[in-house]
Order: sequence, then structure tokens, then C-alpha cells
Amino acid sequence: MTPLRPYLLPASWLLLSLLAGGVLLLAGFSQQRSLFQQNSSIAHRLLSQKMVQHEAVLATLVLQQRPPPAAELLAGLRPAMPQLLALGLLQDGRWLGSGNAPPPLAATLARARQQRRIQTQAAGVAQYWLVAPSGWSLLLDSRRLLAAGEWPATLQRVQLQLPGGNSVLLSQPMPAWGWSMTLDKPLPTSAQPFTFHSQQRYGIAQWPWLSWLAVSAALALLLAWQHSRRQARQQAQREREQARLAAVSRLSTLGEMAAGMAHELNQPLTAILANLRACQRLLDDDDERDTVRQALASSAAQAKRAGDIIARLRTLVTQQAPRPLAAVDSAALLASVQVLRQAELAALGIRLHCLDASAGRRPLADNVALEQIVHNLLQNAVDALAGQSGHIEIRADIDAGRYRLQVSDSGPGIATADLPQLFQPFFSTKPGGMGLGLSLCETLAHSLHGQLTAANLPAGGACFTLCLPLAEEDNA
Ligand code: ADP
Repeated sequence: MTPLRPYLLPASWLLLSLLAGGVLLLAGFSQQRSLFQQNSSIAHRLLSQKMVQHEAVLATLVLQQRPPPAAELLAGLRPAMPQLLALGLLQDGRWLGSGNAPPPLAATLARARQQRRIQTQAAGVAQYWLVAPSGWSLLLDSRRLLAAGEWPATLQRVQLQLPGGNSVLLSQPMPAWGWSMTLDKPLPTSAQPFTFHSQQRYGIAQWPWLSWLAVSAALALLLAWQHSRRQARQQAQREREQARLAAVSRLSTLGEMAAGMAHELNQPLTAILANLRACQRLLDDDDERDTVRQALASSAAQAKRAGDIIARLRTLVTQQAPRPLAAVDSAALLASVQVLRQAELAALGIRLHCLDASAGRRPLADNVALEQIVHNLLQNAVDALAGQSGHIEIRADIDAGRYRLQVSDSGPGIATADLPQLFQPFFSTKPGGMGLGLSLCETLAHSLHGQLTAANLPAGGACFTLCLPLAEEDNA
């Protein structure tokens, strides 16, 4: 799983938000358009009905044998037809009509008679005459065809193309910017087929800004939620990967540890064997009962140490997390080393001197690991004396705010050429040596966040120094 680039999240939000805005705008426009078409059709139908009404009035007038006077007719029709301005009969060049308007032209009547159908003739502004072949004529004002309350609510602009020019029937304020919608359609009557023109603008102020804002906010939340889920998944995967790597590295250490085990266990087993042989020898001597008891106790302690080494290896291979470090009672550890090895070393002519000058302060470490380091360094010092008498000192103190443990001996010291490779695995100058002790000690020291160094003493002999952090309560 690759990590997200930082700009990808805002960029995808912007893109999705713009897309959502486009979709919302289109949906809004299509809704407005269908409303516009519906309203325009209503207005178109209402106007068509008016036209039909005009033609019906003319047809009715023809059928009148003795028509009432024009003024009376006009007064009777006007309440239902506010658009009717004048009415009359054009006959033999005479105009028998009402109103002050000039009568229709005789030529229009002649044309109506010739074509046997009603004719229109332009009159004043937005007005027109309707002249029937019978001579009956109506003067109509297009602006009064529909009363203000009869227009569908959202229509903005409607006009009719009359013989004398365009007449604006409805004119509501229209937004300056926006999406325009128009409809042109002739009125479906034979005598007055004026073109009906309707126009409306879907203004910017009407666009679905609020919905867009809400969708954008929801998208931002959704993307942020997805992002955090993805990050959590990546974190979990990283942790799994780290655990896997730790397992692999533990397994690779296993090889080193297995070889190290043979080396580590050799010493306690040798000590147990030596003790048991001594017991065998002294068993029948009543005066040596105490020595036998001591030798058996030492064997038991060495066997326990061997068990601890194996347990530590098992823990290292199976543990999920590194062993927690804790304050280790190093004074007790040194005392136990002294008890464990003193008798055996004394038999070899070696004086072992364990000295704790740490004033009760304790290192932060793992008990078994620290024990292993001390035993390894001690065994190396014993090996260095190679059966000759001498002395070994194990000293603990505090140096520069750290716990310091030094193992020094009166042996021949380390050859200068060997110093750089001392801690490399399989480096050994001993016949039959495995060269794993120091490399293991160094690995253990690192796992305790410490350092292990080697040096020669000015008076001769080698000195190994282990520095460890102090336990927190001792640090305070
Ligand atoms: P091994 O004990 O199997 O040789 P180590 O890793 O413990 O393996 O030691 C590596 C080498 O370091 C030894 O072979 C020896 O040459 C040198 N060495 C370790 N401790 C001492 C010491 N106290 N005095 C002199 N040389 C030492």
C-alpha cells in the first residue's frame, strides 16, 4: 500500500465537489426547464382559448338577424372580454360601430370577402382589428388578453408577434446572468396564428448553491474518514511487517544462539561434572561432609543456570515483544558468582574477588542476559590464566551516570592485532575455541542498550568493561 501524496486528498475533493456541482446544476436546470415548458404551455393554451373566443364572437354576430346597437353589444361583452376595445359592422363603406377608434379599412374587408375568412389588420400599439367577411369587426388589445393573476407564477417574459409588430404581454424582472430558456410556437387558430414567444432565465442566484455546499461538506467528511481509515490500515500493515521482520531476525539469531548454546552450556556442565567427581571422591570421608554439601549446592546452581540459558533462548525465539528491562540487583548477582565459582577457581590457584562499589544503584537490564555476560567474561579470564595461578576481579561502580561493570585478570592480556576483531563471531585464539562468547556478550549488551569494550591493563592482563543505563528510580 503506497502512502497518499499530500495534495491528492484536496485535489480529489475539489474534483468531486466540482462534479457534484455540475450534476446539481444540470438537475436544477432540467427541473426549471420542465417547469418553464409546463407554464409556457399553460399560457399558450389560455391565449389560444382567447383567440377561439374572438372568432366565436364574430361567428355569433353574423347569425344575428337584428343585432342590437354596437355600443350595447360592446358593453355586454366587455366584462368577459376586457381586451375588446371596439366592435362594429362595416357595410357598404359605412361604419356602424362603437368606440372612438378609427374603423378598419375597406381593403381589409375586401380581402376577407375575397378569401372568405377572417382577416387581421394592425391598429394602435399592441392592438389589431379582426375583420370577418360579414363586415363585423373587433378591435382587440393584446396586452389585456390575460389579467395579471391569470399568468402562471414563474413565467418571466411572453410576447406575441402581431401584424403590427411584437407585443409584450408579460414582462417580469429577469436575472442579468444565467441559463436562458425559450419557446416559440404559433397559436393554433386559422385567423390569428400569431407566434407565441416565451422566455425565462435560470439566474445565478437560483442555482443550487446551498445543496452544493452541503454535498461538498459531506464529501470532505467522507474523504477525511476514508483517509483516516486508509492510514489506520497502513499503520496496521506497518506493524505487521515490523513484527514479521522481528520474527525473521529472531530466527536468524537462532543459528547464532544455537552455536552459542553449545559454548554457554559447556561451562556449567563442566563445573557440574567437576563437582560431582569431587563428591564421589569425598563421599566416604566424614570430615569432608561440608565440602560435599557445598559441591552439590554449586552443581545445583550451575544446573539452574544451564536451564536459564535454555529458557532464555526459547523466550528469544518465541517472544512477541522484547523482554522488558528492569532494575537488576547486581550486588546479589556478583555475590552468587563468587559463591558459584570460588571453590572451583581456588582449586586452580585463581583468586576471585567480586567488589560492588555501586552504592546500591542498579542497572536497567535483563537478569539472565547480565548473568550470561558476567559468566562469559569470567570464563574468558579463567581461560586466559591457562592453569596458572593469578587473580580475577569483578568490580561494579557508577561512571558518568552509568552503571559500569569491569572484569579484569592478571593474564597475558590481548594481542594488539587481535583487539579489532575480538567481538567478531568465530574469532578465537584458543585451541577448540568457538569464538562466540564475546560476540554473544556484545549482542546481549546492545539488547540492554549498553556497550561492551575491551582493553589491556597497564600492569598487564585484560579488562572488559560493560556500561549499562541506570534504572530510572536510581537515576532520579
Ligand atoms: P572463545 O572463548 O571461544 O575463544 P570468545 O569470543 O569468548 O571466544 O573470545 C574470543 C577471543 O578473545 C579469545 O579466543 C581470546 O583470544 C580473546 N580473549 C577473550 N577474553 C580474553 C582475556 N581475558 N584475556 C585475553 N584474551 C582474551
